[in-house]
Amino acid sequence: MGKKQRDCADCGAPVGLLDQPRCCRCSRRVRENAAKEPCPACGNQRVLQADTGRCVLCSRRCRRCDRPRRSATETLCKTCRRTDQRAAAMQICPRCARLGHLRAATGWCGHCSRPQPGPQPPRPCAGCGRVRRHAGLGLCSACWQRHPARPFIRAEALAERLASPPDWLESFTAHVASRYCPSRACMLITELGRLLADEHSNLPAAVLDRARRPGRSMGPLARVLEDFFTDHQLALATDHPEQLAAGRRRRRVDRVPAPLRPAVAGFCEKMLHARERARRAGTRARSDHTVETALTIVGDLAQFLTEQRGKHGWELVDIGDIEAFLAGMPASRKRRLVVLRQFFRFARARRLILVDPARDLSASEPSAFRGSTLTLAEQRSLFRRWTTDLSADSAAGDGVHPHEALVGMLALLHGASSQEMRLMLIDDVDEHARAVRLGRRPHPVPLDPASWSVLQRCLAHRAQQRTDNPHVIVTKGTKAGRRAASTAYLSHVLDPCGAAPRMIRSTRLVDLVNVMDPKLVAAAFGMDPQSPLIYLADHVDAGRLPNP
Ligand SMILES: [Zn+2]
Ligand SMILES: [Zn+2]
Ligand SMILES: [Zn+2]
Ligand SMILES: [Zn+2]
Ligand SMILES: [Zn+2]
Repeated sequence: MGKKQRDCADCGAPVGLLDQPRCCRCSRRVRENAAKEPCPACGNQRVLQADTGRCVLCSRRCRRCDRPRRSATETLCKTCRRTDQRAAAMQICPRCARLGHLRAATGWCGHCSRPQPGPQPPRPCAGCGRVRRHAGLGLCSACWQRHPARPFIRAEALAERLASPPDWLESFTAHVASRYCPSRACMLITELGRLLADEHSNLPAAVLDRARRPGRSMGPLARVLEDFFTDHQLALATDHPEQLAAGRRRRRVDRVPAPLRPAVAGFCEKMLHARERARRAGTRARSDHTVETALTIVGDLAQFLTEQRGKHGWELVDIGDIEAFLAGMPASRKRRLVVLRQFFRFARARRLILVDPARDLSASEPSAFRGSTLTLAEQRSLFRRWTTDLSADSAAGDGVHPHEALVGMLALLHGASSQEMRLMLIDDVDEHARAVRLGRRPHPVPLDPASWSVLQRCLAHRAQQRTDNPHVIVTKGTKAGRRAASTAYLSHVLDPCGAAPRMIRSTRLVDLVNVMDPKLVAAAFGMDPQSPLIYLADHVDAGRLPNP
C-alpha cells in the first residue's frame, strides 16, 4: 500500500489512490449496489438475471408446477419430487383393486385396512321418542321426512351449489313449503335445481318454459311455478289451456276420413277466425266447448257418410243423407242440425258444394222442458239430508260432504247452476247481509238460515285446508293453486244423494216459473228473457210438478 492520501468518505479508513474519494472496500460496495435492481418476484435488491428478469433465487423454477425451487441442481420443486416419490410407492390393493399404499400388517390399502364404522346404533328420536336409527337433526327417518325445515335446508344447499342463485328462490321455497308436504316440496325444489343448474337462462319465463312437460299435463313443477310467477308478477301465465284446446280440435279434425277432411279443417279455421273477431268486437265469442262440439258433430256426419252411405265427397251429400244422420240420435236433432246448417253454409260460400243440402230441413220440434224433476217428498228428504247431521266430520267419512250439501242446497232453494257454484269466490260471500253473489245474477242472493249454515260449514271445511285459493269450493287438486274446481268434480259431487244437479235446479226453476212471472225469474237469475219460457210448456206432467 502506498502513502495515505486522504480518509475514506464513507468509513474513514485510509485511501491510497490519488483520485479516489473512498477506500477500495467502499468503492466496491458502491459499484455492486449500482448493478442491483428490485427483483419483480421477491422485491429485494438483487442482480437480475438476463434470461428471466428475476434474481437468481427467483429464477429457479420447478419444471412441472412453475413454483420456486430451492435446490440449484434439481429440476422439480420439493413438493413435486415428494408427489413423485409417493406415486412410485403406490401399488394396486388386492381387495379394492385401487392404487394405494399397501400396509404391511394386512397387505391392503389404508382404506381397506382400517376397521369400517358400523351404522349408528339406534337412539331415542327427538321428535317421537321411539328408539330408532337417526336420519338427521336427531330425528328418526319418519320424523325427518315430516320435518317442516326440510324444504328450506334443501333450498339452501341448492343456493350454495349454484353459481348465481335466482333472487326468487327463497320466496319460491316459502311458497311450496306453505302449500305442500315437506317431501313433495323437496321434490319440487330438487327438480327446479336441475333446471337452474343447466346451461340455459334462469329468467323466470325461461325456467317456466323448460319446466313444462310435453303432453296433456304440463307437470307439477310447471303448475306450481306458473302459480308462483303469476302471483309475484315475474312471468305471464302459460298458454297451456289454449294448447290443450288446440290438441282437442286437432284430434277431432284428424278423425274425419281423408277425402272429407280439408273442408272440416277449413270450417274449424273459420270458427276460430270468427271467434277472434268476436273477441276484438267485444261480442259473445264461441267457447272452446262450442267449437269442439261442432267439430264432433261434423266429424260424426263425415264418418256416417263414408261408412254407411259410401259417399266420399261433400258435393255428393243430399237431404236424405242428412235426414238419416239426424234420425240416428233424435234427442240431439236440433243441436246437430244447427251445426250442420253452419257447416254447409260455410261449404257453399267456399264453393265446395253447389247446393246446401241442409237448407230446407227444419229443426221443428217442441222446444219445451222435458227433463225430470223431483217430487215434493224427494225434495223434503234431500233437504233433511243436507241440513241435519251438520256436526258430522266429513273427513272421517261419515256424514254428508260439505260440498255436496252446499251444491245441493243452493240448487234446490236458489236454482244455482254448477258453474255458478264452481266459480263462486270467497269475496262473493257477504257476511253482513248473509247473501252471496252467484254467477252473472244482477243482485246478490240473500240466503235463508238453512243455506247459510250449510255455507258456513263449507267455509269451515275450506279453512281446514289452509289454502290461498280464492274459490269457495276448493278440492285436494286445487288447494295449492288458484284454479276453480273442475267441472267433473261438480258434476259428481251430488252422486251420493242420487239426484243430478241439473234435475234439482230444474225442479226449482219449474216451480218458480209456474208460480211467478217468467220475466221476473229471468231478471233475477240473469238469464235471457226467453230461456225460462220452456219451463212453461204444457209438456211438463202436472203430476210431477211440485205443489205451488
Ligand atoms: Zn470505506
Ligand atoms: Zn427475487
Ligand atoms: Zn413443482
Ligand atoms: Zn383397498
Ligand atoms: Zn321420530
